[in-house]
Amino acid sequence: MTKTGLLDKYLEAREDMVRLLKDRGIADERVLKAMLQVERHLFVPIPLRNHAYDDAALPIGEGQTISQPFTVAVMTEALHVNEYDKVLEIGTGSGYQTAILAAMGIRVFTIERISSLLKTARQILESLNVKFVSKTSDGTIGWKEFSPFDGIVVTAGAPEIPKTLIEQLKVGGKLVVPVGSLDFQQMKVVTKLNENNEFEVADKADFKFVPLIGREGWHENDG
Ligand code: SAH
Repeated sequence: MTKTGLLDKYLEAREDMVRLLKDRGIADERVLKAMLQVERHLFVPIPLRNHAYDDAALPIGEGQTISQPFTVAVMTEALHVNEYDKVLEIGTGSGYQTAILAAMGIRVFTIERISSLLKTARQILESLNVKFVSKTSDGTIGWKEFSPFDGIVVTAGAPEIPKTLIEQLKVGGKLVVPVGSLDFQQMKVVTKLNENNEFEVADKADFKFVPLIGREGWHENDG
């Protein structure tokens, strides 16, 4: 994705980041390749660029964060999607996860509730020629118009599994969502089993996300 080639002064840092992701157990080569390609430093505020390839979440304004690279890798791998699949992302934030999915050839639909964040993310993604469809809205109720999706990834912590999102999945599709308290959440990989919206859940490790706020999430004055 870099236009500057040899002038990419962050390439080594990105290679180190990807090595660390491998060491931490990320095995899907398509995910690793996308994370080597996408320039994370372009998605963080300029004063934080030198930390862009640390395995850490960083503030992006409005009290929100760009997710930690390891978290992005775990969620992307858990989606089990392929090129040309349709994925719905809830919580565009910086746009970094959007860019990772798009770099894997996935058709990305992304929803962000804070319009100023979506505006900035759109500008960055468009400057990189990333193809995506986005809107400012409450993502807990999904995006019916474009459903069903092959996968749905929720990049904010939910109090419980948002059931409407399961309805908008294809049978066999996965919903990756962190569920728990406001302090920490367990990553859930939910597989839709049939058209009756029955599902099975696999539990992954614990993470810490900003809250998912909306009709099927936390409410503005919770906590
Ligand atoms: N994927 C992002 C993560 C950003 S943090 C990245 O890589 O940068 C999670 C984001 O979810 C925040 O920007 C927050 O505003 C947004 N969010 C929280 N609740 C939401 C909801 N109901 N619908 C859409 N976005 C939501």
